[in-house]
This record gives sequence, C-alpha cells and structure tokens, in this order.
Amino acid sequence: MHLLVTGGAGYVGSHAVRALVSAGHRVTVLDNLSAGHAAAVHTDARLVAGDLHDETLLDDLMTLEHYDAVMHFAAFIEVGESVVHPLKFYENNLGNTVRLLAAMQRHDIRRMVFSSTCAIYGLPERMPITEDTPSSPQSPYARAKLAVEWAMMDSAAAWGLGCVALRYFNAAGAVADATIGEDHDPESHLIPNVLKVALGQREHVKIFGTDYPTPDGTCVRDYVHVEDLADAHLRSLDAIKPGVFRAFNAGTGHGATVRQVVEAAREVTGHPIPVVESPRRAGDVPILCADASRIQSELGWQPRYTTLNEIVASAWAWHRTHPKGFNDRP
Ligand code: UDP
Repeated sequence: MHLLVTGGAGYVGSHAVRALVSAGHRVTVLDNLSAGHAAAVHTDARLVAGDLHDETLLDDLMTLEHYDAVMHFAAFIEVGESVVHPLKFYENNLGNTVRLLAAMQRHDIRRMVFSSTCAIYGLPERMPITEDTPSSPQSPYARAKLAVEWAMMDSAAAWGLGCVALRYFNAAGAVADATIGEDHDPESHLIPNVLKVALGQREHVKIFGTDYPTPDGTCVRDYVHVEDLADAHLRSLDAIKPGVFRAFNAGTGHGATVRQVVEAAREVTGHPIPVVESPRRAGDVPILCADASRIQSELGWQPRYTTLNEIVASAWAWHRTHPKGFNDRP
C-alpha cells in the first residue's frame, strides 16, 4: 500500500513509519517539523515538510499520488499547554484533522488509522478501562481528540470512511537498534526525565504526588512499548472496515507506579537516580490502566515488551547513545 503518514517524524509516528517500511509499504510522511525530526524518518520513506493547514498542499499531494490509506499522528501533545492555549489545540488537533478528512473525502481516500488517547476517558470510575468506559475528557487536549473521533465516526456513517482509532496509554521505549527514540522539547514524560538524571543532565527527578490512592502513593500508568504500538498500527490497517469506526485501547493491561519506574531505571542504569517528592501535577489522575482484551482478541495484538525493565532498558539504549536526542534544534 501507499500510505500518507502525518506526523511521521514524531515519536510514535517515526516508529510506525519504520514498521510500515519494513512490512514493504510505500510511505509518504507529511510533517511540519515543529516537533518532529527529519532524521527520525526512515530513509526509504519520502518526507514532505508541510502543514496540514495547507489545503492546497493536501490537494496537490493527493492529486499527484494515489494513497491507499492515511495514518494520522500529527498533533500537539502537551496536556498542560492545552489548558493554557486551548484554541491552539482545537485549531491544530481538531481543525487540521477536519481539513485532512475533507481532503480525503475529496480524493476518495477512505481508510484511516488515528492516534487517539486514553485521556478521553478522564477519571473513570472503574479500572481497567475498556473501550466502553464512558468518555469524560479532562483537558482541551483530550476533548479535541474525542471530537476528532466523533468527526471520524460521522464520516464513517456519511461517506464510508473506514477508521481505526488507537487510544494510546503511555508510549515508551525506542526501536531495538536504538537509531530512533523519544526526543521532545520540552520533555515532560516520566521515563525520559528519569533517564536524564542517569545521564547526569539533571540532579534529580521530581515525583509529582505521593499521596494518591495507589499502592505506594504515586500514580499508576500503563507503559506500552513504542514498537508494540507500531505493530498495533499495522494490524489496524488490516482491520479497517469500510464505513465503520472502530476504537481500541493500546495498552498492555499492566500498571506501574512512578516509584516502580524509578526503581526499574536504577536497576537498568546502575545510577542511584535521586528523587524529590513534589506536589501533584495539575490534571494527573491516580490510575490509568487498559483493559487490552479487545485489541488482543480482534487484532491478535500481543505486546512483545512485557516488563517495565525491558521497556526502560530500550529507552535507555536510545538515550545513552543519543544524550542530545536528534540534536537538530538551535
Ligand atoms: N511524572 C513524574 N515526574 C516527571 C514526569 C512525570 O512524577 O518528571 C509522573 C506524572 O505525574 C504521571 C506519570 O509520571 O503520574 C506519567 O507521566 P507522563 O508525563 O510520562 O505521562 P502522562 O501519564 O501524563 O501522559
């Protein structure tokens, strides 16, 4: 297949591009490189540096080439920033997705895989979270993602779009040969921040909240390896049904506390990794853990990285060999 991959220079997107190329697909990446890295894009994929806001560019791309499907990763990701600048998120994450969908409709491209998020569930009453857990998004970021799912659902009914939305839990790790990995600026995620301490780039890592109703008082998250996520995208591509919107949780079903992540990183790196217990971070919920049975039974997906130590070791291999990430920012 020939795929258009928006945001294919970003963290999860670039790993999916590698998996697509390895599986023999032809890939065109559309990325404005505001957060992505050109060096993250596999050399066998074509990189078009451009913005989804540019409808002429979308029409040109889709006129000049035939695309069998679109994988849509491009989005702003900082939940905290979305609270301060909501319209920036609605404009990019929702508005530009609507532009993309409209272009797909104009050019009769009816297959799509979308990067959604477990944040749409908000503060669920019961764990683990199934796909039928009522949505209750707590931030503009999450509300815009949910609105995109609705736009896709309505497009499925109205013009036959076939769509799979993968609701990511906490993506982590890096490709096995450590040639690409996670490089956000600013970096807010736990595992890279912990590993920056092991690299000597930071003195300590802050633990945001130690009084949560969890086994050790710190937040529980479901860390899923980015290569397993990439595999979920390939399987989703095959699972698209015309005129049907399908959503799957992309998580392992196993939760880990912040303290367990720090402990895993101590074991993997041999560094003592000092922590500073700090107040809760606004917007964090105590526990997010997937019920992954639907993606396992319907897509045959099984994570290959099953332990926290394996996931942290894979992230460490990337950070240790690329202490400045892609080193492409001024
Ligand atoms: N966290 C932390 N210190 C950090 C970064 C994150 O204690 O420097 C906590 C955060 O409060 C959350 C968990 O680690 O409970 C995972 O946060 P992350 O930002 O990696 O992912 P999120 O779950 O927010 O998408």
